[in-house]
Amino acid sequence: MKILVLNSGSSSIKFQLIETDSEMIAANTDRCLGKGIVERIGTDEASLRLEALAKQCKPQIGALLDHQIALTRVLDALRECGVIADISQVQAVGHRVVHGGEQFSHSVLMDEEVAKAIQLCSELAPLHNPHNLRGYYVARKVMPQVPQVAVFDTAFHQSIPPYAYLYGIPYTYYRRYKIRRYGFHGTSHRYVAYKFRQIFGKGREDVNLITCHLGNGCSITAIEKGKSVDTSMGFTPLEGLVMGTRSGDLDPAILLYLMSKDELSLHDVSTLLNKFSGLYGLSGESNDMRELMASAGKGNEQAKVAIDVFCYRIRRYIGAYSAAMGHVDGLIFTGGIGENAPLVREKACERLAEMGFQVDVARNKGIIGKEGEISADSSRARVMVIPTNEELLIARDTFRCVRGLPHPY
Ligand code: ADP
Repeated sequence: MKILVLNSGSSSIKFQLIETDSEMIAANTDRCLGKGIVERIGTDEASLRLEALAKQCKPQIGALLDHQIALTRVLDALRECGVIADISQVQAVGHRVVHGGEQFSHSVLMDEEVAKAIQLCSELAPLHNPHNLRGYYVARKVMPQVPQVAVFDTAFHQSIPPYAYLYGIPYTYYRRYKIRRYGFHGTSHRYVAYKFRQIFGKGREDVNLITCHLGNGCSITAIEKGKSVDTSMGFTPLEGLVMGTRSGDLDPAILLYLMSKDELSLHDVSTLLNKFSGLYGLSGESNDMRELMASAGKGNEQAKVAIDVFCYRIRRYIGAYSAAMGHVDGLIFTGGIGENAPLVREKACERLAEMGFQVDVARNKGIIGKEGEISADSSRARVMVIPTNEELLIARDTFRCVRGLPHPY
């Protein structure tokens, strides 16, 4: 089945056309036929970049005045590149949807009722859900006969128990405003955990895992017998690890202090914590780990401190989630930083040998941008690098929802 995976944003659409079915999933031979991004939708200078059948196509620049025109252009481009003969070959559409609230613990076939429920969750993800939904309405217009599926970032974490998802504030706020930990990046954590079990021939029930997704946004998840039991992002994606530009955990009283000292508005505080904090704020230089490592290598102390804070926070969470589960069989690194930065992995695992995580320095240095084991032979738990593939999981979920098959992981 050829499935179009869409990640629709306010002025962009990321897309992949993926071919998958039961046999291909079992043999791990499902594949991406084409992928790309449309940016600056709504302007005269929108751009469409497409890599089709592993070949880079010439970028197209021009007016794409709305998402519907942009999606039509994407389908035309896929046809022109020979990825599809015509639109009717796209048999389903899978949408990345950021927030499914407490309502969605699995991917679902979309209809008007599901769309309404996603709309209701928009209050919890105002920057994402409305645009994800727009992707659905536009695809429904362009391909009215084609089934569509929503795959939620939050769904995997719905198995987290109340003692881990409740905050220590009056319970009434959970009842009234649904303030609780939701967690994000669920598709990525679920994918790498599945891959780990596949590599080692284990079933869901056989292993407890800690998965570290370290990209621009960063989160870490405790997965007990295949189920997320805790995760570092919370009510919003601001909590937890130090990220590119987001602060992660901090004493909430700091906000009050800053608001009174510098007379910051709500908007100022939100911008400060989301856009000017994290690696960027700490280093005063960059949110890009590559640049910070280069800078630290040249002796820049502030860049070094930023990296130290980033790695120490990961280490603390690994310790916390080991305690949460009691026993851990595998630790997985993924995302742009997790896949490509041996230094970060090494520092994040410092002093964890007694806990069961021992990195082999040479192995670690040799695994960059690819799958591989980095643990020492003497390590009790396996430490792995596993490149994430959220789009593939969205395509597989879409296939299963359309066929009415159960979700195996
Ligand atoms: P997103 O969360 O937007 O999907 P990515 O997963 O692509 O982001 O991760 C982006 C991060 O990965 C950036 O901080 C970038 O510096 C980092 N990164 C990419 N390649 C490398 C590398 N070779 N070494 C260190 N960090 C890298």
